[in-house]
Amino acid sequence: MAALATTSSLSNYPRLTIAQYRDQLRQSGTASSIDLAYSYRGKAYRYSIELSKTAPHYGGSRYWFRCPSCSNRVAVLYCAGTYVCRGCIGACYGSQLQQPIDRLFSRADTIRQRLGWQSGIAHGSGTKPKGMHSKTFDRLVNEHDRLTAKIWQQTLDKLGCTH
Ligand SMILES: [Zn+2]
Repeated sequence: MAALATTSSLSNYPRLTIAQYRDQLRQSGTASSIDLAYSYRGKAYRYSIELSKTAPHYGGSRYWFRCPSCSNRVAVLYCAGTYVCRGCIGACYGSQLQQPIDRLFSRADTIRQRLGWQSGIAHGSGTKPKGMHSKTFDRLVNEHDRLTAKIWQQTLDKLGCTH
């Protein structure tokens, strides 16, 4: 339960590194894209990721992915349904998940405070504070449970976000 955090660790995402393709790319020499076919969370994906080539001063050439979402040149892509760069994963969770979920957390905590429960939904439910009407208590607990359910649902849904 304590692992529920608002900041997702990038290490949780399947990733694709350009290094994995180094040998293939060296052999082909002229590859301009990589074809991907995989299934992720029950959905099939098939598309290509564009490549970009640069010439470092030490000679040879170096390949990069072009992020399918923002076209930035990157060496690592992370799977959020489709593969996108770190910046796009951040933007995705920043705008679409992070803020709403933070609001839910703080609303849940406001209720927990009124109930005298320890802050943080990971601590579970507590008991009715002395002197609080049962009706008030039930209403607050219902609201708290509704928020908690929403938080869990959004946490589970987050990997479906494709920016
Ligand atoms: Zn990107």
